[in-house]
Amino acid sequence: MSDRIEFEGQQENEVEEYEKVCFLCHRPESVVGKMIDLPNNICVCSDCMQKSFDAMNNMPFDINQLTNTPGIHFMNLSDLEGVIPKKQKIKKKKEGEPRKPIIDIKDIPAPHKIKAQLDEYVVGQEHAKKAMAVAVYNHYKRVATDTMDDIEIEKSNMLMIGPTGCGKTYLVKTLAKLLDVPLAITDATSLTEAGYIGDDIESVVSKLLAAADNDVEKAEQGIIFIDEIDKIAKKKNTSQRDVSGESVQQGMLKLLEGSEVEVPVGANSKNAMVPLTTINTKNILFICGGAFPDLENIIKERLNKQSSMGFIADLKDKYNHEKNLLSKVTVEDLRNFGMIPEFIGRLPIIFSLQGLDEDMLVKILKEPKNAILKQYQKLLALDEVKLEFSEDALHAIAAKAMKKDTGARALRSIIEEFMLDIMYEIPKDDNIGMVTITKEYIEGTGAPMITMRGQAKIADTTS
Ligand code: ADP
Repeated sequence: MSDRIEFEGQQENEVEEYEKVCFLCHRPESVVGKMIDLPNNICVCSDCMQKSFDAMNNMPFDINQLTNTPGIHFMNLSDLEGVIPKKQKIKKKKEGEPRKPIIDIKDIPAPHKIKAQLDEYVVGQEHAKKAMAVAVYNHYKRVATDTMDDIEIEKSNMLMIGPTGCGKTYLVKTLAKLLDVPLAITDATSLTEAGYIGDDIESVVSKLLAAADNDVEKAEQGIIFIDEIDKIAKKKNTSQRDVSGESVQQGMLKLLEGSEVEVPVGANSKNAMVPLTTINTKNILFICGGAFPDLENIIKERLNKQSSMGFIADLKDKYNHEKNLLSKVTVEDLRNFGMIPEFIGRLPIIFSLQGLDEDMLVKILKEPKNAILKQYQKLLALDEVKLEFSEDALHAIAAKAMKKDTGARALRSIIEEFMLDIMYEIPKDDNIGMVTITKEYIEGTGAPMITMRGQAKIADTTS
């Protein structure tokens, strides 16, 4: 019985964790007092309600007459259905309770532990994982200590450079999951300067607020990943106003550094129908990522120029065949690419990721904790069928993926194509005990190897 009472109490608490926001003046319940509920999830504070009545009473004519006048009609609240976001409430700040940081300094895992956890999911990219682990560790130390003295620790926003499908987004997602902080992922391509068609820059913060269940404090310590950041490089040779390139970089400066932004709650654009709340981006970790095509050429040019000058002059094209050029990137190269210096200055941790080769793709297929092979094996295991891939079949899949030039992203679609027939045929016959995917099957010159249950047993006993 006592359990039940506690449970009900708990539910009540949950309901009370969010507060209503006035539809007209956008102030929350904690400021204006009890709200009056209207249909369609609309709440109005008593001040605004009173003002509306006063306005009506003070009208110099009879309101009933006006409503009957052709051409004039009054707004009907039910017309607003669908216009108003459902999740308009924001999480209450608890009063009296000391503000406890979401992350305790003792709970932040050390860099080697963060890296070890990343290792379980992400193959290769050793340098990126190490750089990221240290940056995140320092960032959350900074958040937890909240700068107690004059030495202010700088924000460790990051810039990741690497070809498409090499694991940039995957790294950030894994990181946010293991740190248990809210994460918002956006694409820089859709961003434009405020007032133009496209998303306002602040919409990225509003996405984070949604990811944190409208809890402002939680959102203020989350991670924002902005992908395709190379798409907002300064446009060259243009006489028009660059509303989606340089202006977006300018607009993001304040956000990256830390400022108070007003963001809409429950929607990603500001309009008269949505309440606003203020979020401080001081402790939000920004990670930007991009493929930066052509950056390799810029680096190559610089290195070749450097090496062919002066007494230690070297071959003019020494770096033309250098493999890991991206790892030699400097701030100067990024400036030449079209990123403005102030913008790069606010992303102090810059590192690159390698393009994936065939061996790495094979590892990605079978090694991570939720590797694609393991997922299919689990699916078939539910039918009590064992699934095996021969080593050269895995290489054949990886070779096919390499040709598509989309990194590891191609792997799933290739495997899916081959597994479709298998997943369709296998459940037809209860006697099938094991399927082995061979290189011939992947290359279209043969079939997968099927072993019947009886045979499998015989093989077992003889071995
Ligand atoms: P991008 O670098 O373009 O952001 P993603 O991170 O979205 O690429 O990678 C696409 C998918 O490929 C991921 O969801 C993940 O499953 C897989 N993947 C890419 N790189 C790796 C890696 N190094 N280790 C494990 N899986 C990876």
